[in-house]
Amino acid sequence: MPPGSSHHIEPTQGAHRRDSIRTSQSDPPDRHSASNSTLVGLSDTVCPGERLLKHSDFDLGMSAKITRRDLLQDAGLISLGLGIAPSAAAIKTIEAKNKPYPPTRTGLRGSHPGSFEGAHAYARDGLPHPTPRPLDESFDLVIVGAGISGLAAAYYYQKRYGGDRKILILDNHDDFGGHAKRNEFHQGGRLQLAMGGTHNLEYWQFSPTVSSLMQTLGINIPKLRKKTDFNYGRNGAQGPAIWFDAETYGDNKLVTGCSLKGPPSTSPLPYLDQFPISSTAKTQLRAFYTLQTDVLAPLSSVERADYLHSTGYFDFLESKAGLGAEARQLFKTACHGSWGLESASLSVAEALDDGLPGLNLIGETAVESDWDYPVGIFPDGNASIARLLTQRLIPSIASGVDADSVAMATFDYSQLDRPEHPVRIRLQSTVIDVENREGAVHLSYLFGGKAFALTAKQCVMACYHTVIPYICPTLPPAQKAAQRYQVKYPLLLTNVLIRSRAPFTELGIDGAACPGRMHSALFLMNGIETGGYAQASEDPGPVPVAFWGSLSPPDDITNFWDQLRAARTKMLDLTLEDYEREVRSVLQDLLGPVGFSAKHDILAITVNRWPHGYSHEYLDLWDPKWPEGQAPHEIARQRFGNITFANADAGASAYTHTAIDEAARAIAELSALN
Ligand SMILES: Cc1cc2nc3c(=O)[nH]c(=O)nc-3n(C[C@H](O)[C@H](O)[C@H](O)COP(=O)(O)OP(=O)(O)OC[C@H]3O[C@@H](n4cnc5c(N)ncnc54)[C@H](O)[C@@H]3O)c2cc1C
Repeated sequence: MPPGSSHHIEPTQGAHRRDSIRTSQSDPPDRHSASNSTLVGLSDTVCPGERLLKHSDFDLGMSAKITRRDLLQDAGLISLGLGIAPSAAAIKTIEAKNKPYPPTRTGLRGSHPGSFEGAHAYARDGLPHPTPRPLDESFDLVIVGAGISGLAAAYYYQKRYGGDRKILILDNHDDFGGHAKRNEFHQGGRLQLAMGGTHNLEYWQFSPTVSSLMQTLGINIPKLRKKTDFNYGRNGAQGPAIWFDAETYGDNKLVTGCSLKGPPSTSPLPYLDQFPISSTAKTQLRAFYTLQTDVLAPLSSVERADYLHSTGYFDFLESKAGLGAEARQLFKTACHGSWGLESASLSVAEALDDGLPGLNLIGETAVESDWDYPVGIFPDGNASIARLLTQRLIPSIASGVDADSVAMATFDYSQLDRPEHPVRIRLQSTVIDVENREGAVHLSYLFGGKAFALTAKQCVMACYHTVIPYICPTLPPAQKAAQRYQVKYPLLLTNVLIRSRAPFTELGIDGAACPGRMHSALFLMNGIETGGYAQASEDPGPVPVAFWGSLSPPDDITNFWDQLRAARTKMLDLTLEDYEREVRSVLQDLLGPVGFSAKHDILAITVNRWPHGYSHEYLDLWDPKWPEGQAPHEIARQRFGNITFANADAGASAYTHTAIDEAARAIAELSALN
């Protein structure tokens, strides 16, 4: 069972340095009388906005003129973002010239305001559908969802039938790509890119179908790898780091050279004395990391496998590793990025596979190279894949662009939905009804508060599966139940443009795990020079910092599915100010000691919230073992008349390559009808 061999684990090849940049301190006074006492600052039920505030909003610069809103972001193109507000006249010109350019939008992105309310009103709250106005438009194929799966479905349809077939792709967002979302920042005079969602290309898992599409798009993974020196914040001079915050741990403390989830060379063991936790918790952790034993030795191999797959990781930490609640808390959110879940939701096998510690307790030895994770990556993540696919479908959107120039290319969004093009992408359009009728598919969708209807010969549903039962009410009940089973995991990727990377350099880090905070990790977005993009290495100009993770559900919710729904609700309920206050506080406390000022050094904030994030992959503790062919995703994706089903949900696997494979299957199923 190699740790780190699966899922969206972040690789850990960072240089290991033992000397922390801060002088090691003796234990802080014990704040904890018992090993299972709770930490000072944060109960899981408390939103960060409700924490005991250490900094005033004024000190944090909450009212500073940064680009939180579209208008100012666009205006930032000329003001060069040095905190100078552009004139009203300049704003007007820029607005007219550059709007809309969705990648430059800041503030709440991902599931942005305006993208989901229609679906929630009709699907979740049961409002009656408005009567749609029929459009004089008909298509060979309509695709619901302009994520990678929907875009790939259009590509496979064209490939099979030729480029003149009429295809319409509808999506509720104001940008195409679904989770493959690009964030652009222009403040500071040069383009800075960040990823708003999916980013890793896990090429060793590619099917021949996916590899062939990558080749068609001109994507050469070894070439991408050569131009990438990015390691999720573990490439600083001092190696990986853990940042303990005072609100949670009573003391702001940066410990460098170690990680909570990483290869043996980054074990926290030599650094435990620096952790601002009780001496009881330190003693427990010391024993945990030191032991070399096999607590499962008395079990047969079948019993052993059963134990590893049926026992919760936190139960294992408590009963076999002797860790109390305080020590266990350190690992609570360590899988937020890789899984989008609490570590406590994982079995022992899943947690160890994801790189959490404990192999030494079951007689196995962690191997350094098991943490290598040599993904291909673009500076805007897999938005580059979505853009290359879109450019192939609608060449005039960015003529001549290829995999070597895609990162720097400006796309002409006015080309997306033009009657003269065989492929049209219609954004801000939420599909609310899809029916098989009279040998065709009839659809209605909402745009600008009004409903419209059109017809197509065939349809691919490339959207989230949980929404489909509301959109296709005539589906068989068993299929609807199977689609509802796909509850996705919420994810958060908040990009903050800071004036300079100098404070990170001074601390010797380019990121840190933040076990007490809303986002479980943060890292500088640099070192990815693919797609024609290059960042200054000498000049310490503005650079995006990615805050990465999910949201913890309230502690009192123990059912896994309810936890997911609660975290999703929490994500939508938090305001932009809540997210902003959180990232400002973290940056101030982490970087403040080396001169950073949240008030002056933050230029823009983009919060990519994804309440419907990773597709649900079947989990040891929460899913039965389905008989062959009877797993929910297999039932959910069965063809229904002229409608087929794509999306990563159809493969119950949260990967870009799955989204592509499922698109190819959905088109092949339609073709079987023709
Ligand atoms: C933050 C984040 C990070 C990730 N990182 C990785 C990674 O590194 N590597 C990896 O392989 N995978 C990653 N993933 C998984 C990701 O889900 C897949 O890679 C892939 O992008 C899924 O594509 P899709 O087209 O199936 O779904 P989506 O991208 O979700 O596209 C579906 C689209 O349908 C739209 N839609 C839904 N309902 C309607 C409706 N009623 N009408 C119109 N449109 C509708 C949605 O809004 C969405 O735009 C990540 C996901 C997230 C959220």
